[in-house]
Amino acid sequence: MHPAASAPSTAPSSRPPAAGDQDVGQLARWDRDHVWHAFTQMREYEPLLIEAGQGSWLVDTSGNRYLDGSASMWCNVHGHRHPRLDAALAAQAAKVAHTTNLGLSNPTTVEFARRLVEIAPPGLEKVFFSGDGSSAIEAALKMAFQFWLQAAPPEPRRTRFVAIGEAYHGDTLGAIGVGGVDRFTSMFAPLTFAAIRLPSPGGPDPATGRPPPALGAALAAVEQVLETHRGEIAALVMEPLVQMAAGIYVHPPGFLRGVRDLTARHDVLLILDEVATGFGRTGTMFACQQEDVTPDLLCLAKGLTAGYLPMAATLATERVWNAFLGDHADRRTFFHGHTYGGNPLAAAVGLASLDVFRDERVLESLAPKIARLREHAARLGGLDHVGAVRQCGLVAGLELVADKAAGTPYPWREQRGTRACLAARQHGALLRQLGDVVVLMPPLCVTLDELDHLAAAAETGIRAATEG
Ligand code: PMP
Repeated sequence: MHPAASAPSTAPSSRPPAAGDQDVGQLARWDRDHVWHAFTQMREYEPLLIEAGQGSWLVDTSGNRYLDGSASMWCNVHGHRHPRLDAALAAQAAKVAHTTNLGLSNPTTVEFARRLVEIAPPGLEKVFFSGDGSSAIEAALKMAFQFWLQAAPPEPRRTRFVAIGEAYHGDTLGAIGVGGVDRFTSMFAPLTFAAIRLPSPGGPDPATGRPPPALGAALAAVEQVLETHRGEIAALVMEPLVQMAAGIYVHPPGFLRGVRDLTARHDVLLILDEVATGFGRTGTMFACQQEDVTPDLLCLAKGLTAGYLPMAATLATERVWNAFLGDHADRRTFFHGHTYGGNPLAAAVGLASLDVFRDERVLESLAPKIARLREHAARLGGLDHVGAVRQCGLVAGLELVADKAAGTPYPWREQRGTRACLAARQHGALLRQLGDVVVLMPPLCVTLDELDHLAAAAETGIRAATEG
């Protein structure tokens, strides 16, 4: 029996009859031959075809069920096939699937923008829609740059960005300019700009392995950069509270507040990337609300549509927006846009998701889940080869190490993290690693029983990859 067969009954009992068994092998071959998968070495790729989902569960073409332990790449919120989200999507499709937002609009997208403004930190009143997290960042970077060109008085020397070490803001060229996960981006350095980089206060220095700077030292480093580059910086960009792709690097409390105060004092724009932290992941709707911070620009994606459809948004303050107003001949317009920006199908699902947040009291339901995840993470931290455990809200990272006492990492070529996640699959959970950090990031709708199942699968996977 597949171990996942004993999973809680929220999993669908059988797969839909879409693909006949003889087709599955063919599909797997086509997958390997034609589909170029993201972040995947295609020579080593082993097809896994998911054809159905329900709640926190996914089902493959052979009928195996897996707990969706990475929330379908950190974006699923209320589970798969939530009836209200499905209904909202179908209802919008019955009206119109797409209208451009270049110079015109549709009621669903307008209503969604209005609802986003209502739930966003106060002061963010303008919503620029785009397609995915990277494009939300690109828009924010270009807005910040153009803002200073059109400020009164203009400050054309402000062409630089400050970013945090090990930051991840997406894979497009501007986003990697402010990104710092060098194993993904360093080869593309000649194609993009170099941000001014600050040490991450959430994780060890990747070059030396030294522990992260404490709060005071981290803020002093921010202040020094803002002083040294006075008049040159357009914006500081960061992920608030926790840097996910870095390896779940959790910042010390007060860092975000401190950065906001310093950027305000030096009149540098603050761009917050809540692509991964937004929509409840850290325990509040937006991470920045935990430190009472309003950025100048806020980037949202992933959970914006509860993980249903690609959509992103860059929210801006009135001050930023005003710098773009003028007569058309002034050429102050933001000349930037994407075909599917503001897509009404995505907006309809996003609206329904906000209703679900409200009606199912989703944020209120998180505390016991976060506590249960903390218990499991602490227990798994006791395993012989788990060297560090980091958690923020409903996400935890378990760092695998060769020697726990000495803190020695595994040689990266051994891919222990990948091996642990592949082994966990055999026990009914889909997990995703970040290097040798095994990440537990289920949808917010996960139940306590499902969290137990996820932790058990992770434990078995980690043991298989590190013991014996
Ligand atoms: N910012 C952060 C913090 C992210 O985690 C990601 C994606 N993991 C992105 C930006 C890029 O988003 P997308 O993959 O939708 O382009």
